[in-house]
Amino acid sequence: MDRDIAVAWLQSHPLFAGLSREVQAEVAAAIESVFCVPNQLITPLNAAPPGLLLLINGELESQTSPGLGQTEILFPGAVLFWAELLLKQPITTPITALTDAELWLLPSEKLTELIAQYPELSQALSSQLAAAVTNLSNQLSLEQERQQALRPYLVPQAKRGIIGKSRYAVQLRQSIKTAAQGNENVLIFGEPGLEKDNMAALIHFGSAQRRQPLIQIACNKLQLSGAELFGRVSGKPGLLAWVGTGTVILNNIQELPKSLWPVILNLLETNTYQPVGQTEPSDEIPLIRNTARIILISEKTDPRLEKVVKTRIKVPPLRVRKADLEAQVDYYISLICRARRCQRVTISPEALRRLQSYDFPGNLQELAGLVERAINQRGSENELTEEVFWAAAGKKSRFRVNLLNTYPWLRRFLRSPWWPTRINYGITTWVFAAVVIILFIGPQTREANFALNLFWCWWWPLVLVGFPFVGRLWCAVCPFMIYGELTQKLSLWLFPRSLQKWPRQTAEKYGAWFLFGLFALIFLWEELWDLPNTAYLSSWLLLLITGGAVIGSLLFERRFWCRYLCPIGGMNGLFAKLSLTELRAEQGTCGAECSTYQCYKGGPALGEGQETNGCPLYSHPAQLVDNRDCVLCMTCLQACPHRSVALNLRPPGIELWTTHTPRHAEIALLLLLLGGIFLHHLPDLERLSGFDWHLEQFGWHGLASVLVLVVVALIPLLAYGVTWLVARTLKPRPWLELAYGYLPLVWAGNLAHYLPWGLGEGGKLLPVAAATIGFNGGSLPILVAHPAVIAFLQGVVILFGLGVSLWLSQRIARQSFKLLWPHQFGLGLVAGACWWVLLN
Ligand code: SF4
Ligand code: SF4
Ligand code: SF4
Repeated sequence: MDRDIAVAWLQSHPLFAGLSREVQAEVAAAIESVFCVPNQLITPLNAAPPGLLLLINGELESQTSPGLGQTEILFPGAVLFWAELLLKQPITTPITALTDAELWLLPSEKLTELIAQYPELSQALSSQLAAAVTNLSNQLSLEQERQQALRPYLVPQAKRGIIGKSRYAVQLRQSIKTAAQGNENVLIFGEPGLEKDNMAALIHFGSAQRRQPLIQIACNKLQLSGAELFGRVSGKPGLLAWVGTGTVILNNIQELPKSLWPVILNLLETNTYQPVGQTEPSDEIPLIRNTARIILISEKTDPRLEKVVKTRIKVPPLRVRKADLEAQVDYYISLICRARRCQRVTISPEALRRLQSYDFPGNLQELAGLVERAINQRGSENELTEEVFWAAAGKKSRFRVNLLNTYPWLRRFLRSPWWPTRINYGITTWVFAAVVIILFIGPQTREANFALNLFWCWWWPLVLVGFPFVGRLWCAVCPFMIYGELTQKLSLWLFPRSLQKWPRQTAEKYGAWFLFGLFALIFLWEELWDLPNTAYLSSWLLLLITGGAVIGSLLFERRFWCRYLCPIGGMNGLFAKLSLTELRAEQGTCGAECSTYQCYKGGPALGEGQETNGCPLYSHPAQLVDNRDCVLCMTCLQACPHRSVALNLRPPGIELWTTHTPRHAEIALLLLLLGGIFLHHLPDLERLSGFDWHLEQFGWHGLASVLVLVVVALIPLLAYGVTWLVARTLKPRPWLELAYGYLPLVWAGNLAHYLPWGLGEGGKLLPVAAATIGFNGGSLPILVAHPAVIAFLQGVVILFGLGVSLWLSQRIARQSFKLLWPHQFGLGLVAGACWWVLLN
């Protein structure tokens, strides 16, 4: 090495320039040359420094710069390890060569010798150390300022990965991975609630810049000047400068103030920006090169952005990713259960199906809210059933008037102890007991047994008239269930135990078929043993249904029998769909204000809510979509602390063409009830047919009964078959949905059947009551309608039923009459047959 050259170099270096010529010459004499190739590790971590290194040519990279934890490029003139040598510490910053490099090494031993010999050398190194400490302290305070500026916007980590295995989920994961591998700006767009910000975080934390900061900025909150983002001329740096080589998420870019669009588009296009000055951007303000990656989040893509951002990720809405729903729900469940340290719950298949049938306008965010609410509401259950999921509000609240607001006295009454407790335990229980006893011990025919008259000539017509007005109201005061509840309470008092949970899956699948079978047997029993004229058998019928309610209540909690198995309940639920009233709750209030769900779970008194055991049918008023699931017991109204429960006046039967879920077993029951009209008139059919059906013989009677039920049920089926044949290319609405069009006509036919009993025999209650106790009541007043009036009313009812059925079928189908005419013709045929049998 040429000593003169070395001395000249040392004289030009600030660290050595102040030393005397002699010291410079001594240092130059001790220097050795070292050469490096690119990527060569010059000094390993934690090793003792080999000596003082002076970079003469080439570039080096120090993996972490002092204090800031960043890489630093070292250029010629850099002096390495002087601090370590002075402080006698190992190397803390590994250094590699970026290019071919030449270094001069002053070995440690020689340096120690020179320092001992020339104190001025030690002084020069100490002043260098003092300057470095000052520099470091400046850098640290700068770093503190930077952290403070970034803190409100920092995103510490991604919340979760992409859940699910659908092709959409796979695609999304792949797009995120590809975006993470590059360093380009990205546009992520999709509907609200899809956790697009989380995807942006996944891109950042999957990229090489993962150790750099990630910040998220809400575009609608940005200052109109943009100073927050770009900084000010001769003022504080902006977020873009502070974030360095990190990532900036611009959330909801569609809400960016208009004034900022040009500068943001320019930033995206040129990757440069100007700090905000006193005036408009001008050439005098220096351009700054942006080093951060920008990720834009938007609800929609935008042609302006498409021009400047090449990497775009479209996030599909949840409704097209139904295959991932189960995995998403499982994930949220485990997340919530872990946070609450509670046992993990499962979700029933029905609940999952309900979720899958919903479109989730609020996407993942809405789903997370639903799951959380369901977990809050489930009580001690370890399974989330469909009742605890409230989705699909949609059309539910349209065209409704809350009668409880219109008539405050009605609210007071329905919340009073009278409804239904006092009525049930003070009146119904005793009346029912008396009816059962009178049926057993009294005269056995209808004209002489008060209780038989009451059952067939009063109860049946009244309950049928009630369906279009008050739905399943009978079930609120039904004696069968009152005895069931009484037995339940008594047995729990005598034998304290936990009643069984409902086997919901099985009950949902088979319950309606069970009650259909029971109803068919009751029809045949009624016809073959002439129950309306055989008092003790009518009593057995009542006791049989009561027995079912009692057994159901002894085994299962709440009113399992009423929800799934009772044949009368099945009929009530079916006709209740036609009602012009409904009980529902305000989903908004429930979702926003309620955390106790007293209506469903029950619980102690709270606010204006009374102490109750919760809905006996395990229905939640906020998610009711079908009148069949509510017995109008008003437990929820009494329990609710937030006045959320409403008793609405609504267009009759509206659920049938809006929120209704059709069921096969219900259709079977509907056809059975249709056949029942004709079954009750077998002798008339025999007369009208002109043949002898031998109905006096049990076997022929039984056969005729079954045949009538089957043949009548075939009429609607055949009519639909023809509809399908003539218009199958136009895809008529499925039978399962369209069959409900028969509901008004079936109701009308049944009512028309009972009208002569109600308006005729029913009015003879007083003489019949006298006859029951052995008196001749011939002189007691009666109130009966003329047979012509009754026939007229029967005709009106049938025509009314036909008219409503025709209209309802069109409404359900939402298809032209030309397509539906065979179905409508079937309705006409059934109505004509009812007329023919009942009025001839
Ligand atoms: S479902 Fe049956 S047992 Fe239950 S309340 Fe109604 S009619 Fe009575
Ligand atoms: S009805 Fe009342 S108790 Fe039930 S969830 Fe709504 S606000 Fe809560
Ligand atoms: S929803 Fe309310 S009124 Fe209907 S059954 Fe349940 S508690 Fe009774």
